[in-house]
Amino acid sequence: MSGEGRLLTGPAGERYRFDPGGFWLELLVTGGPGAHRRHEILHTPDDLAAWLVDSRLAAIAPLAAGDLRIKPMELHDIKRFRDSMWTVARDLAHGRRPVPGALALINDGAAASPRPRIDPATGARAWHTPLSGVQVLGAAAREAIDLITGPAATRVRECAAPDCHLVFLDTSRPGNRRWCSMERCGNRRKVHAYRSRRQAG
Ligand SMILES: [Zn+2]
Repeated sequence: MSGEGRLLTGPAGERYRFDPGGFWLELLVTGGPGAHRRHEILHTPDDLAAWLVDSRLAAIAPLAAGDLRIKPMELHDIKRFRDSMWTVARDLAHGRRPVPGALALINDGAAASPRPRIDPATGARAWHTPLSGVQVLGAAAREAIDLITGPAATRVRECAAPDCHLVFLDTSRPGNRRWCSMERCGNRRKVHAYRSRRQAG
């Protein structure tokens, strides 16, 4: 699924693809603090396991729900991390330095990470399973560290539509991606611009 992004449902029931550009940013579509609370989909560890099967982590090497062992406390920590990453991602998108408390959460979260292996039967990349919640958190936190300390930190963007708050990593070569999804906000904006021109003319 990597590159194509995740299939999301908007407030009017419209379906669109959103490519967040990174696993730690992909986590943000599972819910978040404040107004994002109503989008929460991670209610139980099984919810997280099911979600991970289609995540960017599974694009690196295949993952089945049975490959994951997530404890309730780990789910709690991952959601706390996710909620804090909303602020971090927005800070980066608007050229602000993330606050020390959020950086501490990232640093603590980076303790473990999923262990890759080579499947001797196929020679393909695989995960050493089961994967724990601590390892999943570690994958996201380590990616956040790589991003925040690297040149791509200036490529985090918030969707340019004023009523859309999705945040993504702009991996386009020219660095001019403005929308969460062309299908959704990009087109809405084009239709809006067209209507305004017609009304003005
Ligand atoms: Zn958008």
